[in-house]
Amino acid sequence: MKKIIAANWKMNKNSKEAQETIQELSNILNNTLPEDREVIIFPSFISLEASVQCAGKQSVLQFGAQDVYPAKDGAFTGEISPSMILDAGAKWVLTGHSERRHIIKEENTLVGQKTSFALAGGLNVIACIGETLEQREAGRLYDVLSEQLSQTLAKLPTPLSPERLVIAYEPVWAIGTGKTAGTEDIVEAHAIIRELLKDIIGTSVFQTRILYGGSVKPENANAILGLKNVDGLLVGGASLKADSFAKIILA
Ligand code: PEP
Repeated sequence: MKKIIAANWKMNKNSKEAQETIQELSNILNNTLPEDREVIIFPSFISLEASVQCAGKQSVLQFGAQDVYPAKDGAFTGEISPSMILDAGAKWVLTGHSERRHIIKEENTLVGQKTSFALAGGLNVIACIGETLEQREAGRLYDVLSEQLSQTLAKLPTPLSPERLVIAYEPVWAIGTGKTAGTEDIVEAHAIIRELLKDIIGTSVFQTRILYGGSVKPENANAILGLKNVDGLLVGGASLKADSFAKIILA
C-alpha cells in the first residue's frame, strides 16, 4: 500500500504562484519519488486546471479540489460539481476539512452527501475528521470520531475499490497551530478509526488508508509516518514551499 502525502494549499497562491511551486516540485520529484509514495496537491479551485496542465501528463503529481457540491449541476451559486473537477484534470477531492466544518459550519450530513456523491461521480475522496480540544478534554474523542465517520460514510456507493476512499485524522487543535499531536494521541486515534472502519466498511478496511494531519513539518514527518496505522500525511502550512514539502514527501 503506497503512503499518500497530500498538500492542502487552502486559500493560498494565485495561479502563477501555484504553477511555480508545481514546477519546483516536479523538478525535485519527477525522477526521485519513491515507488511507495503518492503525492496529491490540492490548489484553490481557480488555479486547479492551470496546476494540472503545468505538471503535465507524465507527472508524478496528482491533483484534487478542496471541496465539492453534491449535485450534478444547477442553481448552486459559488459551488462546483464532481464532473467540473474531473474536467479540470483532477482526480481527488477533500471533504469535511475542519476549516469547512468550523468556519463555514458544514454539518456531518452535508459532509456525508459530498463524500458519497463525489465517489459516485468518479472522484477519489480524502474525508477529514477530527475532534476539537474541548471535545478531547471532555473525553469525547471516540464519540466524535464515531459520529463523524459513520455519517461521512453513511451512503458509500458499492462496489468501491478501497484505494478510492482515504480518511484523514486531523485533530482541530493541531491544525495550523504549530502543535503536533503526540505519538500516543495519533496512535490512539488511528486505532479507533481503523476499528470503526471495520464496522462501517468491513473486509477491505486494512486497505483503507488513514492519513494524519496537523502541523506536520520536515522535522516530524518521518517519525509520524512510522507510527502504526498511519498511511500518509495531509499537510497545510509546510506544503506551501516546494523544498519543505519535498522533504516531507521524501522523509
Ligand atoms: C490542514 O489544513 O489540513 C493542515 C493539516 O494544516 P497544517 O499542516 O498547517 O496544520
